[in-house]
Amino acid sequence: MKKILPVDLARQYKQIEQEVNEAVLEVLSSGKYINGPVVSKFEEDFANYNDVLSTISCASGTDALYLALQSLKIGPGDEVITSSLTFIATGEVITRNGATPVFVDIDAETFNCNIDLVEAAITERTKAIIPVHLYGHAVDMHRVMDIAKRYGLYVIEDCAQATGAKWQGQRVGSFGDLGCFSFFPTKNLGGCGDGGAVTTNNADLAKFIRMLKEHGSVQRYCHEEIGLNSRLDAVQAAILRVKLTYLDQWNENRRSIAQSYHRLLEHIPGIALPQDISGNGHVWNQYTIRVLKGSRDQLKEDLEKKNISSMIYYPIPLHLQPVYRNLGYRLGDIPLSEATANEVLSLPMFPDLSLEEQEKVAQVLKELMI
Ligand SMILES: *Cc1c(COP(=O)(O)O)cnc(C)c1O
Repeated sequence: MKKILPVDLARQYKQIEQEVNEAVLEVLSSGKYINGPVVSKFEEDFANYNDVLSTISCASGTDALYLALQSLKIGPGDEVITSSLTFIATGEVITRNGATPVFVDIDAETFNCNIDLVEAAITERTKAIIPVHLYGHAVDMHRVMDIAKRYGLYVIEDCAQATGAKWQGQRVGSFGDLGCFSFFPTKNLGGCGDGGAVTTNNADLAKFIRMLKEHGSVQRYCHEEIGLNSRLDAVQAAILRVKLTYLDQWNENRRSIAQSYHRLLEHIPGIALPQDISGNGHVWNQYTIRVLKGSRDQLKEDLEKKNISSMIYYPIPLHLQPVYRNLGYRLGDIPLSEATANEVLSLPMFPDLSLEEQEKVAQVLKELMI
């Protein structure tokens, strides 16, 4: 059997090749490559999809988070609470805005931030919480919003891995003040390059972010803020418009793949399987098991030798990253996150992964674990 990739992007493209090609060619012949009608239409589609007032597209998920924090004027002296088990971008944007990230431990069941610990980490300096919907599983947003309301904090959702995910029936990105999405190719809604978006129900914030991402100007060549050049390319917007029409189907496929994985893997000793406690709203950007027996890294290598590629998200929690040495965290400070970083292994997961491939993954895993 051919090598099984963590995500097979070329296979997805094959299925929608004609539609994508037509959409791209239309943009190419329109001559409108920056902003323009396709970008606006995508923003409308994405706002409707997420059931929010506005979408502001931008160049990446990282920029979406950066702009979100900047728009709330979070900066030096402020603290922002987030999970220690996430991609660097979540912390990076806090630091880039001059604020201090405060990392909390995760919840054993979902890999997401432990909400009791979020509340315990609040100080006089806390300005915002960034819940990260890791692997496509929504954080308990009812609890996060309740805490935010009680303490007067902003909530910025990191939805990069969770486009389409729901918490108890409501889409992520529609709970907090701002929702930040990534259209990096491997995300549930991914372009053929970089892209991102901020969603919000707050018209003033939407307007302000739109200004910030256009060099801080409303009127051309008149600049009111130090902003960014952060735009979603028209070509990417055209591709994303096509793909958005497939997203629910693809997320449904991911759900049934997760179910078959569960069935195929549940009796294999020494591994723990991921759960969905969000009310069937998990969109499975990753199917991440925990390896509880033997070495996770060795298992990854052995799988690779059998033509199965897996991934580790993330091998080093943010509080132990070299770049955050100055924050003073030590090994042992955020124990569950640290242990989990040594156990997690994400198996191949994409909407058109075949049952045959899943069976191969399960069979090889079984041989290696018994
Ligand atoms: C991918 C990702 C980002 C950043 O998105 P980019 O589009 O790559 O900049 C931020 N947070 C999380 C959790 C991510 O997975």
